[in-house]
Amino acid sequence: MKQLSDQQITDFKSAFPSAKENELMSSHTYLKIGGPARLYVVANSVDDVMGAFQKAKELKMPWAVIGGGSNLLVADEGFQGVVIQTMDRAISFDEETVTVAPGVFTGALAKATADEGLTGFEWGAGVPGMIGGAVYGNAGCFGGEMKDCVTFVEAYDVKNEKGVVYSNAECRFGYRDSRFKHEPHIILKVTMKLQAGDRVEARKKIDEIMSKRKDTQPQGAFTAGCMFKNVDFTNESELEKLIREGDEIPPAMLQQKRIAAGWLIDKLALKGKTIGKAQVSPVHGNFLVNLGGATAQDVVALSSFVKMKVRDDLGILLEDEVQYLGF
Ligand SMILES: Cc1cc2nc3c(=O)[nH]c(=O)nc-3n(C[C@H](O)[C@H](O)[C@H](O)COP(=O)(O)OP(=O)(O)OC[C@H]3O[C@@H](n4cnc5c(N)ncnc54)[C@H](O)[C@@H]3O)c2cc1C
Repeated sequence: MKQLSDQQITDFKSAFPSAKENELMSSHTYLKIGGPARLYVVANSVDDVMGAFQKAKELKMPWAVIGGGSNLLVADEGFQGVVIQTMDRAISFDEETVTVAPGVFTGALAKATADEGLTGFEWGAGVPGMIGGAVYGNAGCFGGEMKDCVTFVEAYDVKNEKGVVYSNAECRFGYRDSRFKHEPHIILKVTMKLQAGDRVEARKKIDEIMSKRKDTQPQGAFTAGCMFKNVDFTNESELEKLIREGDEIPPAMLQQKRIAAGWLIDKLALKGKTIGKAQVSPVHGNFLVNLGGATAQDVVALSSFVKMKVRDDLGILLEDEVQYLGF
């Protein structure tokens, strides 16, 4: 990794005196892993995000915009550049339309929309991280996903150097996918359309979702959620390749035409597999957890081991859901 020069650091800090040097990313990721960001900026507004980005660009420094760090694995060596963390928490309501800053926590937004008497975003209560990150990866659970709620996304198109407003279709949402994963953008504002509903019912739904998650996911663990994407199939012959003789596939997976990566990992008896201080969660096969003191290298080694086993035994190439920074 090319080191930033003293001059670059001085010039950046004269524009952003609050920028911290060598901020440990393990303090900003749910995995509690990651070395230092050479410079770290908290962005409380669009001006902050764009100002930090423009300055980094002008000084020819690598940059990254992150949200809550709940889907992120940062290298042990950290990141030789500027990490900009969104913290703008603005939410505004206009009847069923909700406008949200990227730094709003997804869970907090779910509760706020329920309190406002809106329905359609209760599922968001269980998704860690922020709305910018949720749009980036089209986050979803319990039958809902960002794709169902988002009407417009305001962003900065890094390649074409201009502000853009994308409709839902233009965001090209797919399963844990969006155009933002393929073309560099900074997500600056998200507009969503929900439905008028009942406050009490919406709150009840959130409580149900939260209690279901408690039953199926490791609680209080240091993790980035699902490490791998689930595996889609389109027809019977593709399905046959994904499973082994005698396997009973849960009806929900058959209906969705999507085999849970965690289910495949469980079938291969990999739950509990440990490398260094990283472990395949004994509760959920697709969650890799930091048992305390794990390095990014431990997680990469464990993730590679799981991928290799799944490839060798089932002929499936698992794709990463977790995003990497500094590798
Ligand atoms: C316990 C646990 C459970 C989880 N359960 C789910 C689940 O049920 N469903 C699900 O979909 N996910 C789940 N996740 C994964 C994670 O919560 C989501 O992917 C989440 O939406 C990521 O948001 P974040 O703000 O933390 O993004 P980060 O982890 O900070 O970043 C993820 C990516 O988004 C990019 N990004 C973030 N903000 C912006 C922005 N403003 N502009 C441009 N790019 C940006 C980053 O550069 C990075 O590449 C879970 C994670 C954990 C830890």
